[in-house]
Amino acid sequence: TKKERLDKILSNMGYGSRKDVQKIIKEGRVNVNNHIIIKKDFKVDPYEDIITVDGNEVKYRKYIYIMMNKPQDVVSSTDDPINKTVLDIIDERYLIFNPFPVGRLDKDTEGLLLLTNDGKFAHEILSPKKGIEKTYYAEIYGLVEEKHKEYFKQGIVLDDGYKTLPADLEILESNTYSKVKLSIKEGKYHQVKRMFEAIDMEVVYLKRISIGLLKLDETLNSGEYRELTKEEIRLLK
Ligand code: URA
Repeated sequence: TKKERLDKILSNMGYGSRKDVQKIIKEGRVNVNNHIIIKKDFKVDPYEDIITVDGNEVKYRKYIYIMMNKPQDVVSSTDDPINKTVLDIIDERYLIFNPFPVGRLDKDTEGLLLLTNDGKFAHEILSPKKGIEKTYYAEIYGLVEEKHKEYFKQGIVLDDGYKTLPADLEILESNTYSKVKLSIKEGKYHQVKRMFEAIDMEVVYLKRISIGLLKLDETLNSGEYRELTKEEIRLLK
């Protein structure tokens, strides 16, 4: 792998700005393969060389993958003049990686939101060509019946004339207020809400519960998040 400057690697790993880490290096607190290194531009292979700061090993990684159970009162854009954003509720030690949300959930939608700094990974999850299913649990004002499964499978024409790709509707409860699961392979603006509007119904509660083979960790309370495990990352690749 490519060698990089020691100060750059340490800064990327969250040990402070370039200036901060240059000071740490100068103070003799950094070892590479058991030798104290005081040259800030010393070249290291971040995957092969063993780097320590104050005796603690620096685990190098370039990418970060986070799953969040997004709460209802935060927006999934990266900056917003009025609302709290998902980045506002993430710890500094993750923010140093510059994560961004993979797609959007509406302000009032809860559930599984991924954040990463891996652009290729994000692109593949969002690409309609890849057809990764996003599954939502929804509560609907309206009587959802068997016949609607077929409508959704055929594709629904939205208010702007767009015809949705085949979607899989599962009915959990059929009543004045119905409970359903809906899986879609694309992510048009307000798509789930607009699909139900197109059949004269209203989504009153919406939660994303899975993306492809990855399920929302139900032990995460609203607003909580954690890093994906290696296995979970693999499920999406
Ligand atoms: N569909 C919607 O209408 N809203 C979301 O947040 C996600 C999918």
